[in-house]
Amino acid sequence: MIDDELERELLNNGAAIVGFTEIKENASRDIAGLTRAVSIGVDRKLNENTVSLLVALQKKAAQLLKSKGYRYLCIPPDSDRIQGKFISKLYHVFDHKMAATSAGIGWVGKNGLLISPEYGPRLSLVTVLTNAPLSAGAPIEFSMCGECSLCMDFCPSNAITGREWSRYEPYVELVNRDNCALHKKKSIKMKGKPNCGLCINICPYGRKNAESAHVV
Ligand code: SF4
Ligand code: SF4
Repeated sequence: MIDDELERELLNNGAAIVGFTEIKENASRDIAGLTRAVSIGVDRKLNENTVSLLVALQKKAAQLLKSKGYRYLCIPPDSDRIQGKFISKLYHVFDHKMAATSAGIGWVGKNGLLISPEYGPRLSLVTVLTNAPLSAGAPIEFSMCGECSLCMDFCPSNAITGREWSRYEPYVELVNRDNCALHKKKSIKMKGKPNCGLCINICPYGRKNAESAHVV
């Protein structure tokens, strides 16, 4: 089956986790007919190597789908957005976190990041849209952060609102991006580095950060 073959191909080439989801109603005519999404997660921080790996995995998926006669469209990693190009429009239609939550990989945590039970907020994601008849995973509908508020309590810029994500309210403001950006700007001046990342490091999910591959 194409599902198994695609999962195997991606896991064997460095993906940590792979999930499939159905896109019931295309919000954009640009992606008409592409009724499935492949969500691919890599267990690394989003640095240059991670981006290369994500792009390589998308190519693997695309090659396999093409060889079976299916159409596909690769949505690039977040850090690789090219404003003004056709593909940049699709981030607003179907983003990587939406694909991953729909595929059952995880939920969006109070820190605004995709949280997987196995890897916590330490997955970097890409998505491939296709018309291949992939079996969809069970979507995650609600946040599983529960009573935890560590990321909010320790965020140095009070950027985390403490609100909870749900599949039915996907665009609720979880993080005040301006506060976060301002804090990072200050840290460049003080430490020469733009990153904070405390809300990633403090999250109890995925601390063990299993190296083994996992399929949803
Ligand atoms: S990166 Fe730092 S400042 Fe930004 S939301 Fe996370 S903890 Fe807060
Ligand atoms: S630190 Fe706690 S509240 Fe924040 S994302 Fe992780 S589980 Fe959710």
